[in-house]
Amino acid sequence: MRTQVAIIGAGPSGLLLGQLLHKHGIDNVILEARTGEYVLGRVRAGVVEKGTVDMLDEAGVGARLHREGLVHDGTEIAFDGKRHRIDFAELTGKTVVVYGQTEITRDLMDGRAATGGKTIYEAADVSLHDFDGSSPKVRYKKDGKEHELACDFIAGCDGYHGASRRSVPEKSIKTFERVYPFGWMGLLSETPPVSPELIYIHSPRGFALCSMRSNTRSRYYVQCDAGDKTEQWSDERFWNELRARLDEKGRDELVTGPSIEKTIAPLRSFVAEPMRFGRMFLAGDAAHIVPPTGAKGMNLAVSDVHYLSRAFIEYYKEKSSAGIDHYSAKALARVWKAVRFSWWMTSMLHKFPETGEFGEKIQIAELEYLFSSKSAATALAENYVGLPY
Ligand SMILES: Cc1cc2nc3c(=O)[nH]c(=O)nc-3n(C[C@H](O)[C@H](O)[C@H](O)COP(=O)(O)OP(=O)(O)OC[C@H]3O[C@@H](n4cnc5c(N)ncnc54)[C@H](O)[C@@H]3O)c2cc1C
Repeated sequence: MRTQVAIIGAGPSGLLLGQLLHKHGIDNVILEARTGEYVLGRVRAGVVEKGTVDMLDEAGVGARLHREGLVHDGTEIAFDGKRHRIDFAELTGKTVVVYGQTEITRDLMDGRAATGGKTIYEAADVSLHDFDGSSPKVRYKKDGKEHELACDFIAGCDGYHGASRRSVPEKSIKTFERVYPFGWMGLLSETPPVSPELIYIHSPRGFALCSMRSNTRSRYYVQCDAGDKTEQWSDERFWNELRARLDEKGRDELVTGPSIEKTIAPLRSFVAEPMRFGRMFLAGDAAHIVPPTGAKGMNLAVSDVHYLSRAFIEYYKEKSSAGIDHYSAKALARVWKAVRFSWWMTSMLHKFPETGEFGEKIQIAELEYLFSSKSAATALAENYVGLPY
């Protein structure tokens, strides 16, 4: 089998890249290790930047997001029992949309099915070959049989645990990492959100986040110990802990109900440099991970795809390698800014066991400054709604 661009991974980055390339007549095949249902079952991101909305529109899959997504003009931060609002619209003229990653993935899958794009699900033992030369190949097993996909380029969109980054020789890649000493226990429930906007909570018991997927479906998180297992978190324990971290109004208005999904996510910041290795390119979580506090992971995957899709279009349509040559530097410049913002939000809002009272005093000073300075609030808002591409 032969294609122009072999894409590894059918998460948001792989599916979006496939859709944009197809629109420009660039042939591509997606190889995905899991089934489509499994990919759709992963409850993850929910906050969508304007740049991401524009990219989904460009790919022709934004209609349902515009119909069903909830436009948020701002967010609230609860601290010392009081809520403070950051007004994105007033401070930046921009907003974000709350629309689940599962819905985006479904829209992208439907878009791909409608255009006849080829996705091979349950592709096992995917391995990447010869991307340092002119004829890269991807090998995989499907239904027990070995297959080889020859291509011009490989796009490694296979997430943090994928095969693409791991196939790069150690001497050619440098990684940067910070692992945080806690995780997020997340619960999804068929209950109305406690408030129309997200509430980020700084409390002496640790961080919590009140988020949502729709007007009837809520997503809540509480900071938990790094080694915690979901079995240790009964619904009752979760709701009690969330209530204890909420302000009084939140406690009164919180509607609880049985969980329909519970997961623990570890928190880390991770960047691999560069993002190009000959004819293989990394995009999305394959190249970088951010703690979810800044709501940046999926949005960053989409901005990588913005640069990468343009690089391939330039190569095939204008016979220019300039985009390809600049992809890594351009993508990383934006990646590091989101890594900084996500690290900063995490540092300001979580309880850090190792920093003691000094750390707590610094957090209080940071939050008081944020709520008293328009410039500080604007800096948060500007990063939250998404820096320009
Ligand atoms: C709890 C949580 C909350 C989050 N909240 C937000 C948020 O609010 N906003 C935000 O922007 N981001 C958020 N994120 C991050 C976001 O979910 C990810 O950044 C996003 O999924 C990255 O997309 P991706 O396509 O690069 O990678 P993935 O979604 O990981 O997709 C990679 C795909 O590759 C497949 N794959 C893996 N290995 C192989 C292989 N060897 N061969 C073939 N296929 C393979 C996987 O099965 C997967 O389908 C959150 C993440 C978590 C865990």
